[in-house]
Amino acid sequence: MADRAGTAPETLREVFDPDRPADAEGQLSVPLDPGWHPRLAASDRYDLEGRALARRAYAPWLVFLGHRDPVDPDSYLRGLDGRRDLSGQLDRLCRLADRLCLDLVVEARAIATCAPSWVIRFEVPGSAVPEQPHGSHPDLPTAVARTTVADAWHDFAERGRTAPAHFVDPPLPDPDSTPFEPVDVDQLERRILRDCADAPGAQAVWRDGRWRHTRLRAEPETERLTELETGQVARWHRTTLARNWEPPAPSWLGPPIPHTRCPGCRGSGTREWLLPCHTCRGGRRIHHGAVLTVTDLADRVVHLNWRPEAAPVRVVGSEPAGLPVVQLPERYRVGTWAATFGVRPEELHDPGTGRALDQDLLDGVVTLSDPDGDPVEAYLAAVARGRPAARVVVSAAGRDVPPLPRLARLVCGLGLVLQVTVADHRHDAGAIPGSPTGCAGR
Ligand SMILES: [Zn+2]
Repeated sequence: MADRAGTAPETLREVFDPDRPADAEGQLSVPLDPGWHPRLAASDRYDLEGRALARRAYAPWLVFLGHRDPVDPDSYLRGLDGRRDLSGQLDRLCRLADRLCLDLVVEARAIATCAPSWVIRFEVPGSAVPEQPHGSHPDLPTAVARTTVADAWHDFAERGRTAPAHFVDPPLPDPDSTPFEPVDVDQLERRILRDCADAPGAQAVWRDGRWRHTRLRAEPETERLTELETGQVARWHRTTLARNWEPPAPSWLGPPIPHTRCPGCRGSGTREWLLPCHTCRGGRRIHHGAVLTVTDLADRVVHLNWRPEAAPVRVVGSEPAGLPVVQLPERYRVGTWAATFGVRPEELHDPGTGRALDQDLLDGVVTLSDPDGDPVEAYLAAVARGRPAARVVVSAAGRDVPPLPRLARLVCGLGLVLQVTVADHRHDAGAIPGSPTGCAGR
């Protein structure tokens, strides 16, 4: 197949897991029934082979990416001065975490008797240790080399769902500050491995310009309920990990963001376990404040504390049920930051999910479920919902989006269909004046 596609066989990677070399025993094999034998009658053989293929229906389509030129997958670890590059790469993530007022966590977990697996990620202070880390690398140098900024964001909101929310008070950049000592990757790895020796895992947390170390411990087993396709409920027992020790609060941590208990989370029925509450998206709190962070994911970062305060609003429409739709002043419209970062508002996205921002957040628009309620409070509750520690992090890094003809060629080659939808909301109730695609409150 690689020959027919004109690619080097050793470069093939499954499209959803491009970091992992194709596994001949796994994705590429179909286990046959023990009764199969090459000397069986053809019809019997075909029957057994057909059944074996049908059993693989859980992955009916395997798509592989391949490159024309064979590349050495480990070349990034070598080079003239590979070690310093790795140190520089980890350093860039540390500095970005500092500028974003976040933690950078390097974690090693021991799985049974195997060598520990490594992962690097951004976190809001107070995030839970995730049940399943995203990705797994055999050692720290490989983890550093292979963790992109996007990888470090993976599942950011999910992981920080119950973290306490604070405003931020970042220090002003100090032009006379001494440069960071470059991170010694080997030394960091050795230290974390030592901590791992008699624990299920260990972390190094980059916070406030230095590494803090802690072991992980296993928490008592808890029960989780999952709804099956049949409508029945399955119970799973799971063991989670927690930090042995929490590093001191960072210097940039501002006062707590006020919150109230979510009114939608009352009761303790099974349903509540299965679907996150719509009102708070599982955070169990309604926040009366939020922190907006806009960044190009490199050097530029802007933090804005959105406190509950009176602000002039204008009514821009109404919902079909008659609820008013209001727009807040510019300070609350994330779309206005696009020009500052030299991107289009549509390019602003959530770095954790890669998705474009909601139109309501771009335009600073909210539907008032209580027409006499405070519009700013309603807006802050809406934007902080489902966000880790009420942090609204927005990436203004331009995206390398392929031009439409290239996308169309790929779609045709894969035998898929490309559907383009354009909606004109100019004449709808609640449309943002002058915007053909911006529709408020729907
Ligand atoms: Zn809730």
